[in-house]
Amino acid sequence: MINFQYLRTTTAKSAIGLLVKDKNAKFLAGGTNLIDLMKRGVTAPEKLIDINHVPLKQIEQIGNKIHIGALASNSAVADNVLIKEKLPLLSWALQAGASAQLRNVATVGGNMMQRTRCGYFYDTEMPCNKRQPGTGCGAMEGFNRMHAIFGTSEKCIAVHPSDMCIALTALDAEVVVANAKGERKMPFKDFHRLAGDTPQLDNNLKADEMIIRLEIPVNNLAKNYHYLKVRDRASYAFALVSVAAAFELSNNKITDIRLAMGGVAHKPWRLTASENFLKGKEATLSNFEQAAQLAMKDAKGFGGNDFKLKLAPNTIIEALNLAKSKA
Ligand SMILES: Cc1cc2nc3c(=O)[nH]c(=O)nc-3n(C[C@H](O)[C@H](O)[C@H](O)COP(=O)(O)OP(=O)(O)OC[C@H]3O[C@@H](n4cnc5c(N)ncnc54)[C@H](O)[C@@H]3O)c2cc1C
Ligand code: SF4
Repeated sequence: MINFQYLRTTTAKSAIGLLVKDKNAKFLAGGTNLIDLMKRGVTAPEKLIDINHVPLKQIEQIGNKIHIGALASNSAVADNVLIKEKLPLLSWALQAGASAQLRNVATVGGNMMQRTRCGYFYDTEMPCNKRQPGTGCGAMEGFNRMHAIFGTSEKCIAVHPSDMCIALTALDAEVVVANAKGERKMPFKDFHRLAGDTPQLDNNLKADEMIIRLEIPVNNLAKNYHYLKVRDRASYAFALVSVAAAFELSNNKITDIRLAMGGVAHKPWRLTASENFLKGKEATLSNFEQAAQLAMKDAKGFGGNDFKLKLAPNTIIEALNLAKSKA
């Protein structure tokens, strides 16, 4: 049994104050990932700081940006009229994640911070550099069907599990975080990290910081968009490969485009080379196929996940086709 102290707070300032007092403290939001990890012995915080009563649930447009509080639930964001109208890609990605019951309690901040679903990470009997640095990587030579094909390191080939974060990467979101001294902003694409030599670190949030909100620029990408998630079951499963695709068309020419992939890397994977190739071109199957090939340039399989080398480009092409047919 794990002994821990439960603390509840109602302001971000006091939450941060409690966090910095004890390096073994953790924020508790929806608890859908953290409590699982505690039950399995992967993590054992001495203090849980319940932040559910901190007023960070807003979803509103301020100027040309949509602000989403870190404690807005995944279903509140997915079902919000403003999000559905102006950022439908985000709504679709959220609805592809988990189940309705989980989405009702899972929060934006918790979703960004959720940990990999690599089976070796959850099994404390197995080696895992992410759970315990220096112990080795069970997946490298083991069961690696779900694992990464891009940006891998010799230490870890795990993938980032979130659907929401793939859409946020494509939408050029920014993250506002705070510590005791004030707020700072970072591009969403820089929030998560590649594993490199420090696979135990999933992101660039510092130990004394709290996620406060997202800011997402309003765009013209609400007509031609699609979030395509390929998984083992129709629902309630993490992505083998997913693609967030959105573009703006003028006279059948692509004037702006966003493409990002999930289930393929330690962080949401933006497809910049494919975007650059498609900008100014016609939205044709042949151009989509060439863009998909460009995306695969540095891909590498590890045996069990070799099928993703074919599945990933096919998913890109299909997502682009489905985005085109939405108009
Ligand atoms: C069966 C199952 C299926 C799932 N399927 C999917 C899926 O298909 N797609 C998908 O994307 N997700 C899926 N999930 C994951 C789910 O979306 C996450 O567990 C959830 O989003 C985490 O949010 P939470 O609020 O419950 O976080 P918590 O579990 O409360 O917290 C997670 C981590 O975030 C930290 N944290 C929370 N809020 C903040 C903050 N404001 N600032 C700093 N740190 C913070 C906590 O300290 C903790 O370390 C699934 C989960 C389960 C259990
Ligand atoms: S892939 Fe990463 S998370 Fe999985 S066993 Fe290897 S080090 Fe651990």
